[in-house]
Amino acid sequence: MKIVLASSEAIPFAKTGGLADVASALSKALAEAGHEVTLFMPYYPQLTAKRGLNPDDFEVCPEKVSITVGSKEVEAGLRKASFPESSVTVYLIDQPRYFDRPELYHESGRDYQDNCERFIFFSRSVLEFADKLGLSPDIIHANDWQTGLIPALLKIEYQDRPGFEKTASVFTIHNMAFQGQYWHWDMLLTGIDWKYFNRHQMEFFGQLNLLKTGIVFSDMITTVSPTYAQEIRTERFGYGLNGVLDTHADRLVGILNGVDPTEWNPEIDPNLAAHYNASTVTQGKPLCKAALQERMGLPQKPEVPLLGTISRMTDQKGFSLILDAAENLLATDVQMVFLGTGDPYHEASFTDLAKRFPNKVATYIGFDESLAHQIEAGLDIFLMPSQFEPCGLNQMYSLIYGTVPLVHEVGGLADSVVDASGENLENGTANGFSFWHFDSTVLYRQMRRAIDMYLDKPIWNQLQHTGMSKDWSWKQSAQNYLSVYQRAGSYRA
Ligand code: ADP
Repeated sequence: MKIVLASSEAIPFAKTGGLADVASALSKALAEAGHEVTLFMPYYPQLTAKRGLNPDDFEVCPEKVSITVGSKEVEAGLRKASFPESSVTVYLIDQPRYFDRPELYHESGRDYQDNCERFIFFSRSVLEFADKLGLSPDIIHANDWQTGLIPALLKIEYQDRPGFEKTASVFTIHNMAFQGQYWHWDMLLTGIDWKYFNRHQMEFFGQLNLLKTGIVFSDMITTVSPTYAQEIRTERFGYGLNGVLDTHADRLVGILNGVDPTEWNPEIDPNLAAHYNASTVTQGKPLCKAALQERMGLPQKPEVPLLGTISRMTDQKGFSLILDAAENLLATDVQMVFLGTGDPYHEASFTDLAKRFPNKVATYIGFDESLAHQIEAGLDIFLMPSQFEPCGLNQMYSLIYGTVPLVHEVGGLADSVVDASGENLENGTANGFSFWHFDSTVLYRQMRRAIDMYLDKPIWNQLQHTGMSKDWSWKQSAQNYLSVYQRAGSYRA
């Protein structure tokens, strides 16, 4: 198949969250399965440079297209890049006015005011370049609200053009909480007729909603775990679009993300003090724990349970619960490490916690991927009590690194973490801890339960082994996406 993926972020070029990992890893897995894959993303020179890449390494392509955005004509340039040892072609769409900025979506806690315009421009550019480059895709796979316009443009403007006669669209929801909702006049920027601004298509409570647009116009809809695919059809998780998803449920499929083994693998991870696998975890992991304790300025105590997390610091990720539970837990002999950026309130609370407990808590406010790898390897218990979690990647990274996850049983966390109940321990499926009631006392009790089990080495090793032995790679998920692409193609036909 000829597959075009569109994403607002992808590693190693730019990343704010899981979407960046998924866009790259899925593209690579599809290419490995023998398909012709092209990934489009915006070209963010400042972000790319910050990540240590040299923008001059990207080939500047001669092709340019002119994009109509409302009453303006804006030129889009193109750069070409690739992933090591992969046949995926990466095209970065270049327009400094929209994408040459210090951050991706917001600065100092405030969204860029022209986000709607920026990503309308990006969405139109993807289709124009697919046309100009003669890609004739079988599938265009759009991701999240930033590319929600693509399925609509395909249906309304492009599907009869030469090269697009067979093209079907797939739209993946990575998080219902971000919908790209803007005032109705932004409809003019889309260049799409007002007749589509109705409650069954692009309108939502008087506003333009780009996530809804992607859902309604795509041939198939996916989200990033089977449980989340069920949850988003309910009021609690659907963020107002549960009714829309229910209407389109016959086209909705949940596929759990995989993990890129070239990025997350304790046997070869260049960020670690020691390498290990399931058989050598008891030798390698303590060295990584000691290195982490040293780096974070904590006393190097091998036996003290080390808990922590790496995350966007938002309410979604359960930081209020963690703070409450930590206050109680810190009366005992434990250590905690936190890495994250986000809500200033949470950043301040966790910075303060580290000041109050300098020998027990270390907090690093910032985005640091190398440290993230060291934390995954160095912790004993990974905390992920998310209020909701479409898929979640860190619980899977933790399982691969022999770090036992403790999670709220929702979304992809429910699909990947099996609680250490007596029954699950006995049948050999247990790999972590999970709880249902979203409450800090419950979290505290689960932390205590996990620590008690940590002290029972044979059981702990069994949990580590079970997590590390499973195949978390993209192979199966990529096959599931290919089935979805086939279904989308048959609907289009
Ligand atoms: P989300 O996409 O909702 O943020 P995921 O668990 O799906 O959550 O993915 C988050 C990704 O971002 C993971 O790869 C995680 O390691 C990474 N990440 C989050 N915050 C940081 C940070 N402060 N420093 C480094 N990596 C981070």
